[in-house]
Amino acid sequence: MARNLSQHLHCCAINTATLGFQTPIDQTVECVASAGFGLIAPWRQEVEGNNVKAIGKHIRDAGLKLSGYCRSTYIPANDTLTFRNNIEANKCALMDAAILGAPCFIMVVGGLFPGSKNMNASRQQVKEACAELADYGDKLGVKIALEPLHPMYAAERSCLTLLSEALDWCDEINSPNIGVAIDCYHIWWDPNLKRDIARAGNRILAFHVCDWLVPTGDVLNDRGMMGDGIIDLPSIRDLVEATGYNEAVEVEIFSKANWWKRDIKETLNVCRDRLFTTV
Ligand code: ZN
Repeated sequence: MARNLSQHLHCCAINTATLGFQTPIDQTVECVASAGFGLIAPWRQEVEGNNVKAIGKHIRDAGLKLSGYCRSTYIPANDTLTFRNNIEANKCALMDAAILGAPCFIMVVGGLFPGSKNMNASRQQVKEACAELADYGDKLGVKIALEPLHPMYAAERSCLTLLSEALDWCDEINSPNIGVAIDCYHIWWDPNLKRDIARAGNRILAFHVCDWLVPTGDVLNDRGMMGDGIIDLPSIRDLVEATGYNEAVEVEIFSKANWWKRDIKETLNVCRDRLFTTV
């Protein structure tokens, strides 16, 4: 039996991308806290180059926790130096994640490297990098959350597209510090969802919700508000929570033409209501 989210608003999280980065992080933190949410997932673009400690303190002082920190530099590269630099960039981000108090770092792993048609070469590089990052994150207390993306992003954004594949990589890397981020937008269509979510068990580190609009105007930036599309969100949440998952339900909506144009307080109120009624 899934949780009644209206009684668990402290478990509801806002991924700041949902608000379109219209306000500086300090203001965003205040709005998310005043709307009653318990958690926030900031992005590196809001944090890097700023006082990371102060941002972490502000988040805590506002009564919020982090549900995660977004997201990795893509790993695959066609030369060793770039490959190493990509890993190092992720290590720096992991340090920030630790300072902020994020339980996990979201890995969007990258697709083909320039000039390549070899998906398996990318996958090999990503696995090697993730093994190293899992060890590094372990020392900092930040887990590595592999997020499989919808296959339409395979070329440019993620050579990791299936939950089952993410779990295979977890098995292969075999570190207690690596798990998966389940984003309904990416995995709702998977015929093996029930089997694979059960298999994920205690490796589920993050759970992201939004909706798939029909038709979709833009594959990247036309995600829908929960309830406005065709994803059976309650069924997926049932499967996730049946594993014992009782962490955050995080709203993550990229919506250039709609939600990013709205007042962020309005968006937050709609997110909260829809979490209660449609997720
Ligand atoms: Zn996500």
